[in-house]
Amino acid sequence: MSETTTAPTRHDVVVIGAGFSGMLLIHRLRDGLGYDVKAIERGEDVGGTWFWNRYPGARCDFESEFYSYSDNEIQQEWSWSERYAAQPEILEYINFVADRWDVRRSIDFDTSVTAATFDEGRNLWVVETDRGARLEARYLIAATGNLSVPSEPTFPGMESFAGPIHHTGRWPKDGVDFTGQRVAVIGTGSSGIQSIPVIAEQAAELTVFQRTATFTVPAANRPLTDRERQVTKANYPVLREAAKHTRAGILGEQPMGSFAEVDLVLARGELERRWRTTGLGVTATFNDTLVSEEANEFVSQFVRDKINQIVEDPATAKLLEPHDYPIGTKRLALDTGYYETYNRPNVRLVSVRQTPIDRFTPRGIVVGDHEYEFDAIVLATGFDAVTGALERIDIEGRGAAKLAEAWAEGATSYLGLAVHGFPNLFTVTGPGSPAILTNVLASIEHHVEWIADYLEFLRREGIVRTEADAAAQAGWVEQVAELAGHTLYPKAASWYMGVNVPGKPRVFLAYLGGFGTYRAICSKVAADGYPGFLHTTPTHEVTDHDSERVTS
Ligand code: NAP
Repeated sequence: MSETTTAPTRHDVVVIGAGFSGMLLIHRLRDGLGYDVKAIERGEDVGGTWFWNRYPGARCDFESEFYSYSDNEIQQEWSWSERYAAQPEILEYINFVADRWDVRRSIDFDTSVTAATFDEGRNLWVVETDRGARLEARYLIAATGNLSVPSEPTFPGMESFAGPIHHTGRWPKDGVDFTGQRVAVIGTGSSGIQSIPVIAEQAAELTVFQRTATFTVPAANRPLTDRERQVTKANYPVLREAAKHTRAGILGEQPMGSFAEVDLVLARGELERRWRTTGLGVTATFNDTLVSEEANEFVSQFVRDKINQIVEDPATAKLLEPHDYPIGTKRLALDTGYYETYNRPNVRLVSVRQTPIDRFTPRGIVVGDHEYEFDAIVLATGFDAVTGALERIDIEGRGAAKLAEAWAEGATSYLGLAVHGFPNLFTVTGPGSPAILTNVLASIEHHVEWIADYLEFLRREGIVRTEADAAAQAGWVEQVAELAGHTLYPKAASWYMGVNVPGKPRVFLAYLGGFGTYRAICSKVAADGYPGFLHTTPTHEVTDHDSERVTS
C-alpha cells in the first residue's frame, strides 16, 4: 500500500465498476438492504462495456428484451426498438435505469481503484484510488466486467503512424468520421465483425487484416412490433423465470437431439431455418455440437458453404472459411451483412495468418514486403478477458497474498464468487462461473441476488470475515476443468481459454455445467449455511489450517 495522508471514508461495501453489475449492486444493497455502498468507476458516467464500446455497428447479441434488468417496473416501462439493440439505445437504457435508481450519488466517476488491501486486524478492505482517496469497507465487490480491459498488440513502429489508431473497446465518445478515408481494421472477432460492414459503408477503402477466420451467423436483427413488445411484457415474469433454468440463461431454440440420432436431411433444413431466423440458435441444432467432432463439423461445414454462397470472389471466400477451431468453441459472432461486405469494391481482405503484420510506419502497415497506406487504423483486437481488470489492481489479501500472484497459473475461484486467501471479496460474474457463456444480465442478477442474501446471512450471524475454503475452491476448480475437458472448447485459442493474451495461462475460465445447474448449486450452498466458506466471528480468527471450522 502506498503512503497517503488522506483520511479514509468508511462504508459497508465498496463496489468496483458501475456497469450493469455495479448499478444493480448499488440498488440492491443500498436501497434494498440499507447498506452504505460506494462504487468507484473509471468512466465519466455509468455503462461499463456499453460506455466504452461505441464503435460503429456495436449492438448486443442476446435479445434486448432479455438483455436487460428483470425489475418489473422498468421492464414494463422501457420499450426496445429492435430485436438486438444498438449501443446508443443500450446506453440510453442504462442511463434511464441509473436515473430511476438514483445510483450516481453513490458513485465516484473518473476514478480508478489502484490498490485494495485486506486489514486482517479489523476485517475490512482498505481501498486506494488514483485520485488519492482511501476508502474502508467490510466488503469489496468486483463488478469489473469480463471484457473491460482492451488487449492492444504492440506492433513495432506503432507510435510513428501519422493518423489516429482507435481500439473498438475505447471508442471516442464523439464518434469517428471515416468519410473519404483509407481505413484498416485489425481483428475479426465479434467487434471487427460488427464494425467492418458499417465502416465499409463510410470509408473510401477498407482493408481487413485477418489472423483467424471467425464463424459468424446472421443476427436476423429487425425492429420489434408493438404486438411483440406487448406479448413479452405480459409474459415477462414467466419468461424470466423459465430462463433461469436454461443452459444459457435465456430461452432459445431447443436442440433437435444428438447428431447420431437426428435425420441429417432434416438437420440440414433446420440449420437453414436457423441461419435465416435465430442467430445463435445455429450451434444449438444438435445437443452435442460442442462435444462431438462429427456434429461440430456438420455445423461448421454448413457455415463454410454459406460463406462460399455469399462471397463472390472464391479466393476471398477461401480465406474467410474458418478451419482453425470447432464452431462455437470461440464465441460465435452475430453479424449484419458481414460476409456480403467482402463483395464491395472498396473492401479487401488480407490474411496475416502465415505472414503476420511486420510493423507500422508513418504511412500505414507493412506485411511481408508490402506497405499498405492508411489514414486511420482500427484495432478490433479484443480484451484481456475475465481476469484482466482485477489483475491490474494491486489486491492484497490475507497474509499479504497478491491476487495477481494467486492467479499466475490460472484464475482460481470458489463458485466464481470468491477466492481463497481474499476474505470478504466477491466477484460478480467471476472466473469459474458460467457467466461468459450466458446472457450476462441473467448471470449478473443471479450473482447480485446471491451476494445480497449472503451479506444478510453474515450480518445476522455476526460473522465479520468470510473466505472461500482452500479445499472447496480446489474442488470447484477441478470440476470446471473436468467439464471443459469433456468438450471441444480447449481446442480453440480463445479468450475463454486466456490464449488471446500473450503469456496468460491457458485455463478454461467458465463453468460448463449450464446456468440452471449452476444456480441450483449456488442455492444449495446458501440453503445449507454456506459450506465451502470459512466464517470468523470476532472471537474466532481464521488461519490457513482452519478448513474444519466451516460453519454449516
Ligand atoms: P476477440 O474475439 O478476442 O477478437 C480479437 C481479434 O483480433 C481476433 O480476430 C484476433 O485474431 C485479432 N488479433 C489480436 N491480436 C492480433 C494481432 N497481433 N494481429 C492480428 N490480429 C490480431 O475480441 P472482440 O472481437 O473484441 O470480441 C471479444 C468478445 O466480446 C466477444 O467474443 C464477445 O463475447 C464480446 N463482444 C460482444 C459483442 C456483441 O455482439 N454484443 C460485440 C463485440 C464483442 P486471433 O483470433 O488469431 O487471435
